[in-house]
Amino acid sequence: MKSLDRNKWFKYIKLYEEFNRGIPEELKTVYQKMRNDIGTPNKSFRKLLNLNDYDFVNLIVDLDVNFTTILSDARHEDRKIKYYSNFNTHQLFEGGNKIKIYVYIEDISLDSKKLCSLLAHELRHIYDIYTIREESDMKSFTDDLHLQILRKEKITEEFNYFLHLMYLCLEHELVARNAMIYENFINCYLPYEELKQIFTESYLYESFVELKNFDYGKVINSENIINLTNYLIDKIGGKKCLVEDDIKNFYFNWHLYFNKKCDEYLLEADKTLKEICLIEENQKYKNKKFKDIISEIYWSYIA
Ligand SMILES: [Zn+2]
Repeated sequence: MKSLDRNKWFKYIKLYEEFNRGIPEELKTVYQKMRNDIGTPNKSFRKLLNLNDYDFVNLIVDLDVNFTTILSDARHEDRKIKYYSNFNTHQLFEGGNKIKIYVYIEDISLDSKKLCSLLAHELRHIYDIYTIREESDMKSFTDDLHLQILRKEKITEEFNYFLHLMYLCLEHELVARNAMIYENFINCYLPYEELKQIFTESYLYESFVELKNFDYGKVINSENIINLTNYLIDKIGGKKCLVEDDIKNFYFNWHLYFNKKCDEYLLEADKTLKEICLIEENQKYKNKKFKDIISEIYWSYIA
């Protein structure tokens, strides 16, 4: 059972730290238990998930799922389909052992796989928060809060677009999205090639590629960009931009960084998909009766 060191939240210095990007073994077990607990609901519901029971962390999740039915016959093309979740990270540090996770879903019917994938995302955040070893690891989480506040202020559309990509690129978000891939595709029992194809059609893939397609020219030439950029630098640290060239360099460097992160996490996603295939392959073998295995070996290799 993990316990939380709240003091570690109060200092943070270094740049983005490396989290364990793959899915930790213990988390896979947690996901499996969570999946069983959630089942296949078809309407809005409230549920308490006791993470103690999962041998995970000393925390109770008050899950509040809000489901709205939409009408559509072109399910996969329909952009109106929404799966969204959040929880207040700050709540974890205010004491108490209960947090609320809100989930908002708009779909033709409630897709429990997608719901569990969202929860896997949030549970990954909880895991990272509980297992943080260095105060500097907090940088990704605190930048998240700064970005959330900045995006509520009066800013230009172009700058908001950049902040959105910055958010997508926060290390703890990238890691959590990788966890979503795992939960979304585990138990699909598809061959690797097919799994990969479905993945490249998913919004998870799109969110990585969005980083690669960053149109920095659009941002550099937008209104009031020097002031807005310096305002951001004020919050997250770094050298202020004084002249136009500084701005060009600033956004060009982010473009390189986004590119690098996209490549890294596509590679990570690929590892996750391969891992899923391997787990399922082992599972199939495990579920077979010895008698069948022996007869299979006999007819394939001996007879
Ligand atoms: Zn998140």
